[in-house]
Amino acid sequence: MSEADRGIELLFLGTGTSAGVPMIGCHCEVCTSPDPRDRRSRPSVIISYDNKNVLVDTTPELRLQCVANNVDMIEAVVFTHAHADHIMGLDDVRRFNAIKGGPIDVWATERTHASLDRCFGYAFKEPDPAMKVFRPHLVKRNIEEPFDIAGVRWTPIPLLHGEMPVLGFRVGKLAYCTDVSRIPEESFELLKDLDVLVLDALQYKRHTTHFSVEEAIEAATRIGAKQTLFTHIAHALGHQATNKALPAGMRLAYDGERVSAKSE
Ligand SMILES: [Zn+2]
Ligand SMILES: [Zn+2]
Ligand SMILES: [Zn+2]
Repeated sequence: MSEADRGIELLFLGTGTSAGVPMIGCHCEVCTSPDPRDRRSRPSVIISYDNKNVLVDTTPELRLQCVANNVDMIEAVVFTHAHADHIMGLDDVRRFNAIKGGPIDVWATERTHASLDRCFGYAFKEPDPAMKVFRPHLVKRNIEEPFDIAGVRWTPIPLLHGEMPVLGFRVGKLAYCTDVSRIPEESFELLKDLDVLVLDALQYKRHTTHFSVEEAIEAATRIGAKQTLFTHIAHALGHQATNKALPAGMRLAYDGERVSAKSE
């Protein structure tokens, strides 16, 4: 592929809300659905280009997600925020350290790094060369402004998740915005002219820290990406029935789905 037409691909490792679907102890229609697209692990994606994979968030199901999707190597990890459903699989990254034979960069805001340090401080320590390492070997990278991974620009998109500031990311003509209940006015500027927008849409009912389907449709309509895929989906939304009711160009994503966009 030439420099001009190299694309950006996004793979959904997980599209479920923090409890996952099926949810423990729930036997509703969606939690017992035979449709594999109604089985949703916790929210994470791989963004790929030039045969390089970048992992966005590390869910409690990271190992199962990577095995299921043949993700054999990653270049770096990028975090949206430090809620448990987005970080608790970070220890599994040690497999990628072992395969690479070296450290892996972890990009996050200072606030997110402070939480990662509380749970996974050991993973950011320089390993003792005399000891065999059975833990991750991670390098802290602070997100303050747009940054590059493997030669491609990542633009952080400030979002609000309830009161909490979190980040979405734009890479080429693709943007991933999970865990959002409000998009600040300045951030709409960063979301212009997209091929693919991935946006939080939890359920029909309003929620304090996530877009409802109605709010997500409203934001997606204003952003006007060629296609919009919704993620962080709760058990109230059955895949097929919800998709039938969504406007053209918008749909629920499912675990294992891939979409691609131009690089700019
Ligand atoms: Zn979440
Ligand atoms: Zn249920
Ligand atoms: Zn969250």
